[in-house]
Amino acid sequence: MPLKYPLYRALAGSETLYRVDGLRHLMEWQPLGIGRWLVHEHYADLYPSQVLIQAVIQAQEGYVALTEEEWDVRLEQRTASTQRPSIGLLAEDEIAQGFQECVDLADWTTFGLSAHASHWITARNDDEVRSALAWSNERDAALLVMGGGSNMLLHSDWNGLALHVGIRGFRVLKEEENRVDVVVGAGENWHHWVMVALENGWHGLENLALIPGQVGASPMQNIGAYGVELKDRFLWLEAIEVQSGALKRFDGAACAFGYRESVFKSSEKGEWVIVRVAFALDREAPLQTSYGAIQQELKDLPESSWTHLDVAKAIMRIRSTKLPDPKELGNAGSFFKNPVLPAADFERLQNAHPQVAHYPQSDGGIKVAAGWLIEQAGWKGLHRGTHGVHENQALVLVHYGGATGAEIWQLAQDIMNDVHAKYGIHLEPEVNQIGRN
Ligand SMILES: Cc1cc2nc3c(=O)[nH]c(=O)nc-3n(C[C@H](O)[C@H](O)[C@H](O)COP(=O)(O)OP(=O)(O)OC[C@H]3O[C@@H](n4cnc5c(N)ncnc54)[C@H](O)[C@@H]3O)c2cc1C
Repeated sequence: MPLKYPLYRALAGSETLYRVDGLRHLMEWQPLGIGRWLVHEHYADLYPSQVLIQAVIQAQEGYVALTEEEWDVRLEQRTASTQRPSIGLLAEDEIAQGFQECVDLADWTTFGLSAHASHWITARNDDEVRSALAWSNERDAALLVMGGGSNMLLHSDWNGLALHVGIRGFRVLKEEENRVDVVVGAGENWHHWVMVALENGWHGLENLALIPGQVGASPMQNIGAYGVELKDRFLWLEAIEVQSGALKRFDGAACAFGYRESVFKSSEKGEWVIVRVAFALDREAPLQTSYGAIQQELKDLPESSWTHLDVAKAIMRIRSTKLPDPKELGNAGSFFKNPVLPAADFERLQNAHPQVAHYPQSDGGIKVAAGWLIEQAGWKGLHRGTHGVHENQALVLVHYGGATGAEIWQLAQDIMNDVHAKYGIHLEPEVNQIGRN
């Protein structure tokens, strides 16, 4: 008799429940803490998942077949007993699990502004991410997912859980001729990963060398530099849903990458913790040297000898001279996005300001250099005691020491208002604003 889906199953002797939606898809509800479930989504695209789904479908030893009614009763019984402990002082077992209280995020962010997270944990694998999510969900604690803290401005203390993603590791998924697919843990340092790729002859990311932060945050804003964006080498990412604990794989289309944008900064904001990212690299990837001053930087080497490592090194030298090192001067890189204008708006701007720095885009829009607008408006090098605008790079707001996030945000707003008044252009922050009222 053909099977009729969905099928309902339980793990014998435990409260874990399954719903099989077909031969290729299984949902698993695993009890966790009081009245909480971790929900895993299994696709039969990997061998262990295929074996699991078959075993559950056939109710092999260890699995019990349930009717839909039995399954509903079990689900409700557990969910009904929900009690929410409040956020507060940590118990001994929580400390043993790695939770900490009152952590100064100045040490974890490149702006270096003092702001305390009431609670903190580093998660080193998927299960630790799920446990941390369950902990914050049970307490209704606000969740702040942290990578390297190089793209955030903290406006105030964080009364909630700062979840630092510390999942490490690299794994080659597939090598075919020149193509190499590699999956990387979200907690790996981005620049370190670019260097590992180069050492192995896996090419395509070299123009993104020296961007601070972790691999897990790289899809958030589709990081880009020197003519290359993350999306050019992106294969997929896996993320854990904050509410349910379910693991989901997103391909490039599902991420909806744009200029410093992705679905994780818009419609899915705050819904996912990215745990690993897979890249499609190429031993023979063409060198990308047309952007910025790369060729000028490489001029002492014969062009025929240029390697991917040479390009990476050239970019590292250019970046080191252009951008302030956050270890010496607090900053989060470009504070604003470059605005992209429709052609007609750009023409009006160019008629009034013929020198305006700009880059035509493939979709017909024109990207205007926000740094040029800010510099022309007279903000470059401005000091406001504890903070200001970088002397060489008008797009970068800097923290000299002792500033608050609110003060830096005030400066950002003053710049945005002034640029709007002078050029009619709305600047948008690229940096994530955290804890702004
Ligand atoms: C000197 C300097 C130069 C820079 N140059 C560039 C550049 O050339 N190009 C460019 O694109 N960017 C640049 N940046 C910005 C920044 O380095 C990148 O955006 C980087 O990807 C941020 O990584 P992070 O780990 O520090 O993210 P964080 O600052 O820790 O987080 C950024 C956002 O992502 C979220 N997040 C972090 N990790 C995860 C995760 N695993 N799952 C879900 N959400 C997560 C956070 O909640 C936050 O909203 C620069 C920054 C600095 C300081």
